Amino acid sequence: MRRKIAAGNWKMNTTLNEGKELIENMLSKLDENPPKQNADELLVIFGTPFITIESGMQLVSGNPMVKMAAQNCYSEEKGAYTGEISVSMIKSTGAEYVIIGHSERREYFHESHEMLAKKVDLALKHDLKPIFCCGEKLEIREKNTHFNLVKRQIEESLFHLGAEDFKNIVIAYEPVWAIGTGVTASPEQAQEMHAFIRNLLAERYGPKVASDTSILYGGSVSAKNAAELFANPDVDGGLVGGASLKADDFVTIINSF
Ligand code: PEP
Repeated sequence: MRRKIAAGNWKMNTTLNEGKELIENMLSKLDENPPKQNADELLVIFGTPFITIESGMQLVSGNPMVKMAAQNCYSEEKGAYTGEISVSMIKSTGAEYVIIGHSERREYFHESHEMLAKKVDLALKHDLKPIFCCGEKLEIREKNTHFNLVKRQIEESLFHLGAEDFKNIVIAYEPVWAIGTGVTASPEQAQEMHAFIRNLLAERYGPKVASDTSILYGGSVSAKNAAELFANPDVDGGLVGGASLKADDFVTIINSF
């Protein structure tokens, strides 16, 4: 059975103290307003800046439903890569997840399919679960080639994995035109792409792996639209940017399943 997931991507926001306060605030709001699901059914993931992960771990350690994620990792194991963070460094903080292939990394840091495949391999080797992002820009959707593009993104960076490894992958479909724009994909558009992705996974790995993989939607998910997005059979939750920085909104999103 796949899990529902509400994952926050804080991006380059919050100082150390602001980050700790935000996590404390969210955890106390979750205590006041607990989700009806248990930790086998629902996960909450905070994708914070690197500097916040360790203190975040101390704050969330008593709550089995809440995990920490890094927003990126480097594509080499260790060495002379000034300023980069390796998967083993992330793992040493206690984080369990790492976001890989976010469209901002693909766009501003020119991350290729090959580089993302290397990051995925390293993450799995060090027992970190990738939240692998895919999704098309507006011009691709307007040309009606978005299914081909998402297929290519998934095939090129993930389909070299065997089924056992693939079980540790979470996919986030994030249409680039919906990220940070306030324009959300309609529930029908999200469901259509998620069903397409699940079908791809079924062709490659069989129906069981496809059915067990959580596929998240990302792109202007808010406290207002989360419930209607999450109500779709193939939408297993959200990767949330802006709204994950507001405790009330994120807790409403978590309680939208
Ligand atoms: C994101 O950063 O992955 C994202 C979906 O951002 P937002 O929710 O702000 O659109």
